Amino acid sequence: MLTAPQNLPLRLNEIHRRIAAAAAAAGRDPLRITLIAVSKTHPAEAIRAAAAAGARDFGENYVQEAADKVDALRDLGATWHFIGALQSNKTRPVAERFDWVHTVDRLKIAERLSAQRPRFATALNLCLQVHLGDEPSKAGATPDELPALAAAVEALPRVRLRGLMCIPPEETDPDRQRHWFRQLRDLRDQLVARGHELDTLSMGMSGDFEAAIAEGATHVRIGTAIFGPRE
Ligand SMILES: *Cc1c(COP(=O)(O)O)cnc(C)c1O
Repeated sequence: MLTAPQNLPLRLNEIHRRIAAAAAAAGRDPLRITLIAVSKTHPAEAIRAAAAAGARDFGENYVQEAADKVDALRDLGATWHFIGALQSNKTRPVAERFDWVHTVDRLKIAERLSAQRPRFATALNLCLQVHLGDEPSKAGATPDELPALAAAVEALPRVRLRGLMCIPPEETDPDRQRHWFRQLRDLRDQLVARGHELDTLSMGMSGDFEAAIAEGATHVRIGTAIFGPRE
C-alpha cells in the first residue's frame, strides 16, 4: 500500500479552495457541501494524516479492507461512507460500522442493511445509486426503477433514505459532465415531488467535482486528488 503523500495537507487545502470557488460560482453555501476523502487502498496511517489535516468524512469501497480500517481508527470519530459495490452476503460488516451507504441499487441490499443495523446505532443513511448512460460495467438502478425502490426503502425501519448517487460516464468537457449531474438532480427533484424528503446528491470525483457542485452536489467523493494515485 502507498503511504500518504508528504503534501497531503496542501492537497486537502487546495481541494477545499476549489470546492469553495465552485460553490461561490454557483451561488451556493460551501458549508452545504461535504468532502468525502476516498481512502480505498490507502493504509490507516494515510487516513490518520488526512484526519490530522482536517478531513472528517472518509469513503471506502471494499468490505473487508474497510472493516479493518474502521475498527483500527475508531478513536478518530470520523464519519464513514461506504461507496463500493455491495453484495448481499457482505452487508453485515457495513451495517455494523458505517454511517452512510451510497451504493444501494436494489431492495434486497437495503432490507439486509436495515435488518443488520445494530439497535443502539442511529439509522443508517442511504443513497440510491443510479445508472446513467449505458455502460454495462456500471452498477445502479435505472431511472424508471427509482420510484418503487425509493418507496420500498423508505418503509424500512433502521435506515434513512437521504438521496441519490451516481458515477456517470467519464467526460472531460465540463458541459458534458454537467449534463449527467443535471440528470441526477432532476431525478432527485422528481422523487421529492412524490413526497420523499431527500437532501443529498452524492456526485463528483477528482476529475469532475466542480461540474457536480454547479449542479447541486451535496457530497463530493475525492480520492486521487487528496491521497495521490492508487496502486
Ligand atoms: C474511487 C471512487 C471515487 C474517488 O475517485 P477519484 O477519481 O480517485 O477521486 C469516488 N467515488 C467512487 C464511487 C469511487 O469508487
